[in-house]
Amino acid sequence: MATAVAAWLPFARAAAIGWVPVATNNLPPMPFSRRKTNDKLITLNISGRRFQTWKNTLEKFPDTMLGSQEKEFFYDDEMKEYFFDRDPEIFRHILSFYRTGKMHFPRTECISSIDDELAFFGIMPEMIADCCYEDYRDRKRENDERLV
Ligand SMILES: [Zn+2]
Repeated sequence: MATAVAAWLPFARAAAIGWVPVATNNLPPMPFSRRKTNDKLITLNISGRRFQTWKNTLEKFPDTMLGSQEKEFFYDDEMKEYFFDRDPEIFRHILSFYRTGKMHFPRTECISSIDDELAFFGIMPEMIADCCYEDYRDRKRENDERLV
């Protein structure tokens, strides 16, 4: 991918300054259209609800279950998808963590169920975004006190 961009950039720059090559050679293909061949669309079936994302998106966080080889254990060869018998409501937030690097959590969910999902997918609670972290911590403390 990086090589393709490097090969293509001089042509893009030349075009930008109005220099048009007397082309006997064709321009190299735009690197951005190569995404489809380099990356792979992955289907994640969470209790019947299907989510799709790029393989590269998940691999941004290799220390987590979805970002590592660990997820292969959940691959369904017949359906060509990963199947997880987990909560799809909370999973939406987990997937957006891979997209944006920020984990938000829904206030409507019980804090223990969020913890369970984070533990299952191997995401550290420290990855919760600043906007949600304080609330998470407070509710967790409250919950711990209640359970004692
Ligand atoms: Zn937030």
